[in-house]
Amino acid sequence: MTIQILPARLANQIAAGEVVERPASVVKELVENSLDAGATIIKIEIEKGGAKRIRISDNGSGIAKDELTLALSRHATSKIKDLDDLEGISSLGFRGEALASISSVSRLTLTSKPEAQEEAWQAQAFGRDMEVTVQPAAHGNGTTIDVVDLFFNTPARRKFLRTEKTEFSHIEEVIKRIALAKFNVAFTLVHNSKVVKQFRLADTPQKQAKRVAQVCGNGFIEHAHEVYCQHDGLTLSGWIASPQFSRSQNDLCYSYVNGRMMRDKLINHAIRQAYQDMLPADHYPAFVLFLELNVKDVDVNVHPAKHEVRFHHGRYIHDFIYSICHKTLVEQAMPAFAEVVE
Ligand code: ADP
Ligand code: MG
Repeated sequence: MTIQILPARLANQIAAGEVVERPASVVKELVENSLDAGATIIKIEIEKGGAKRIRISDNGSGIAKDELTLALSRHATSKIKDLDDLEGISSLGFRGEALASISSVSRLTLTSKPEAQEEAWQAQAFGRDMEVTVQPAAHGNGTTIDVVDLFFNTPARRKFLRTEKTEFSHIEEVIKRIALAKFNVAFTLVHNSKVVKQFRLADTPQKQAKRVAQVCGNGFIEHAHEVYCQHDGLTLSGWIASPQFSRSQNDLCYSYVNGRMMRDKLINHAIRQAYQDMLPADHYPAFVLFLELNVKDVDVNVHPAKHEVRFHHGRYIHDFIYSICHKTLVEQAMPAFAEVVE
């Protein structure tokens, strides 16, 4: 075989292998785009567990008509422009791959209208070269991305889809995780035309606690202690449940770094250690914790799905999380004792 450049669709399908594992990964990428666009209302409509349709509508900044083609192209992003930006990322996206990847493995239409533009326009990419056609459309301010027949042209991927129920439960989990991190955004999740979850704007502490209860259950919030500490450019806030509320599964371990949901070993280890002997060995703590730090002190460009980060001062961050959580738990267990120690 001679060396040749791959057609655009095939190159995008290869990239899709890394980020578009299942319908829930599409939902995550698209909702993150809506959040990056400053949306405050996001509607997620799913049909047949996402295999038939995933439609995300937002009231964000929109995409101008003459940028629609670029939005669907690989390595095209409005979020970074140079290495310096890459080293201090404050948006959820930056790789410029999601729309191109998703549209290479589905029938995707992108409809958008920025406030400053009179009319809405719709774009779709066709064929092996993914040529984009743009036509007028009807749409209010914001963006709708409609993903139909996911993996219709990649049978190997399609085979890996689980039942409608399982795929939808993964989508629900993605929405719950995002809803916990974005109290100032309202989310509606619809499955097969039925509203399944509705998170209203949570702009007061009471409404925030209500949203946490909606995601984690009333039991969690009844047993949870609020955490807040700011020190040396680091902020840790959220809720941790008393050891009595420990779980046999790690289903209530929610941690975020600068608003991005994480599955991070260092953070989990620090929290686990804070509970030390208070938890039975085979049990997991329940927590919702938000770590905020300077974007220059954390590298988010570690994994295409961005579940992991690398901290520049890992040990320091570990000990920061450990000590705050441990202190909170000890104070709750033995309030009088904690006063004496101080
Ligand atoms: P990335 O998020 O890494 O920049 P994407 O492929 O997800 O890459 O999106 C490409 C570009 O399309 C984004 O940089 C953004 O400018 C635009 N875009 C995508 N979704 C939206 C949206 N919902 N609202 C406004 N702009 C969007
Ligand atoms: Mg994106």
